Amino acid sequence: MFGVNDVYFWDPGNNRNQGETWISTNFTLATLTSGTTNYQAKSISGVDIYLNNNSNAVYTLDVFSRLLMHEIGHGLGLCDAESNISSSFIDDNFNPNDPVNTLNNSWASLVDVYDPKSSSLSVYNIGNATPVSGVDLLMESNGLGISVGNPLGNPNLLTNDEYGTRQFLYPFIASNTQEPTTVPEPSSFILFIFAVLLMNRKRLLKRK
Ligand SMILES: [Zn+2]
Repeated sequence: MFGVNDVYFWDPGNNRNQGETWISTNFTLATLTSGTTNYQAKSISGVDIYLNNNSNAVYTLDVFSRLLMHEIGHGLGLCDAESNISSSFIDDNFNPNDPVNTLNNSWASLVDVYDPKSSSLSVYNIGNATPVSGVDLLMESNGLGISVGNPLGNPNLLTNDEYGTRQFLYPFIASNTQEPTTVPEPSSFILFIFAVLLMNRKRLLKRK
């Protein structure tokens, strides 16, 4: 993890609370956390997390904590929700006409722990649905899910989508069904935080 004043998405003097994460992946035959062996998957071979440390980029501890959690989410393999950044997002039933109900519902139990790719899930283009009031995912690049229903300092800030994606990437065999915590309540408060994920690219650090 690095504090930098000049990286791909910001320049010297930028005052935003901002981070970006770079991930290197390799196609491998992986052993899943559920025990499945020789599973064709992309494995993460390296992660760099960058946070804006321009002198005028000032963080509260709660903002820094939320931003860092979002970036660590990338480091674990979770994508940004917004399709202008990540071209795909896993869900069970996303409907752009009903993002509040279809993005917030619980689907972790649908993951086939022995063969996640065969789960009854799909990859969706989420578009601009995530700024919708009531959709407050930690993995929203814009706003990091911070809202009245998922406020800074919320000790249970993970939503069903984060639980579901974690279960997809690192399948856990539970002895009984464990339901995630309740989804956040609707809100309209979005902080000016922007965090992005870049995958499978060489570093494009600007040199000036
Ligand atoms: Zn992000």
